[in-house]
Amino acid sequence: MTQPARILVVGGGYVGMYAALRLQRRLRRGEAEVVVISPDPYMTYQPFLPEAAAGSVAPAHVIVPLRRVLPRCQVVVGQARRIDHARRVAYVSTHATRSEGGGDAELRYDELVLAPGSVSRTLPIPGLAESGIGFKTVEEAVGLRNHVLAQLDIASSTRDVEVRDAALTFVFVGGGFAGVEALAELEDMARYATRYYHNVLPEDMRWVLVEASDRILPEVGAELGRYAVRELRGRNVDVRLETRLASCEKRVAVLSDGARLPTRTVVWTAGVRPHPLVAATDLPRDPHGRLRVTAALRLDGTEHAWAAGDAAAVPDLTAEKPGAECAPNAQHAVRQGRLLADNVVATLRGGEPREYRHALIGSVASLGLHQGVAHLYGRQVKGYPAWLMHRLYHLSRLPTANRKARVLSDWTLAALFKREIAALGSLENPRAEFELAVGTGRQPDQ
Ligand SMILES: Cc1cc2nc3c(=O)[nH]c(=O)nc-3n(C[C@H](O)[C@H](O)[C@H](O)COP(=O)(O)OP(=O)(O)OC[C@H]3O[C@@H](n4cnc5c(N)ncnc54)[C@H](O)[C@@H]3O)c2cc1C
Repeated sequence: MTQPARILVVGGGYVGMYAALRLQRRLRRGEAEVVVISPDPYMTYQPFLPEAAAGSVAPAHVIVPLRRVLPRCQVVVGQARRIDHARRVAYVSTHATRSEGGGDAELRYDELVLAPGSVSRTLPIPGLAESGIGFKTVEEAVGLRNHVLAQLDIASSTRDVEVRDAALTFVFVGGGFAGVEALAELEDMARYATRYYHNVLPEDMRWVLVEASDRILPEVGAELGRYAVRELRGRNVDVRLETRLASCEKRVAVLSDGARLPTRTVVWTAGVRPHPLVAATDLPRDPHGRLRVTAALRLDGTEHAWAAGDAAAVPDLTAEKPGAECAPNAQHAVRQGRLLADNVVATLRGGEPREYRHALIGSVASLGLHQGVAHLYGRQVKGYPAWLMHRLYHLSRLPTANRKARVLSDWTLAALFKREIAALGSLENPRAEFELAVGTGRQPDQ
């Protein structure tokens, strides 16, 4: 009896999850087995991370458990560390391989779907590696929320003016979706939280957005980008365009315009680069390190390997400019994931793959509660209607009815009751209390 083909999906994000969902639906029983490798047992709906950081949506509701939605796939929690496509082998690190100490497991496959996404694009800025905070995962979003609330507690309880000023200064680097939305939502949340502090006023806080180019939110167009700058400045956010972070050592952020900002918070959201796994393969890459794929999402000049999403340079066949590539965003990733699965199934059955073709329908961005910008189907909208469109758009895109219902109930509860404002910083060290009880722990810092 012949073995079914094995399709190995590396990555459980947008591309990986949507490709696997489509594969399990379209493949006939016994036709192929699908193995999904992901470091986390869930997919993260990243556009809701700013709302998770602000506490408007529960962190558990912006993730989708892979095992629940992929019952016909085998989900392996682990990391592909190297791929030898010539031999059709992925080297995978899991909890079992690490505890047994015998090196990575070899996982053979017939078809490879490579979708490890991207990581933050950092620069060799002094102090950044030691003190910068990223904003790509749900853990980072929760950590940042607790960190910001903890700064209010520090400011409220210290007598040292310098410590207080640094605690109340929040620097965000990068004026794309992630940076602007994260800053706007967290500023909104912190401003609300100051109502409950007897000695911290909203105007005591300093929120700074540092952007190297002359605009923010390029995805929504120049006019709405300018509106977003005005809106943020109207809320006292210090938006610095054509400015770069020069260093952030010893809790001082130094900017290229000469400003020195004592701060305990530097959030880095200045772009992405392909996941380092891409470089640990024998697959073709472009000069930016992304996987070089054809419009059919097949690795260029390579059989049995497919890729899409942030890690791949996908030709944009709808662009007027020849040689253009699709932007790294969720709108493309979802559609590419589905088409990629269709193409894998078609080729397994001896058919021809189709080419990816999608013109962006626009973009939406939240600027905090009840404020936003939207550029959808050629229409530009701002303020409350745009914020509503942002919510409805992302709610409609959130995978599974279960998650949609939970997010909707989070919003309803947040509208009816007061917001949560307590910092749960001890989440990062849940054993501290017990260690103190048994006498092996440290006394909390005075
Ligand atoms: C805060 C934030 C807000 C955003 N907002 C928007 C928005 O409003 N609109 C929009 O269109 N886009 C938005 N994006 C961008 C969008 O989320 C990405 O373009 C999209 O996630 C790319 O999909 P992907 O599948 O390529 O990567 P991801 O969705 O990042 O998935 C990659 C997966 O691969 C896994 N992985 C990594 N390494 C390995 C390994 N070695 N082995 C196995 N698995 C691995 C990762 O854990 C992850 O699950 C936002 C991004 C962020 C960070």
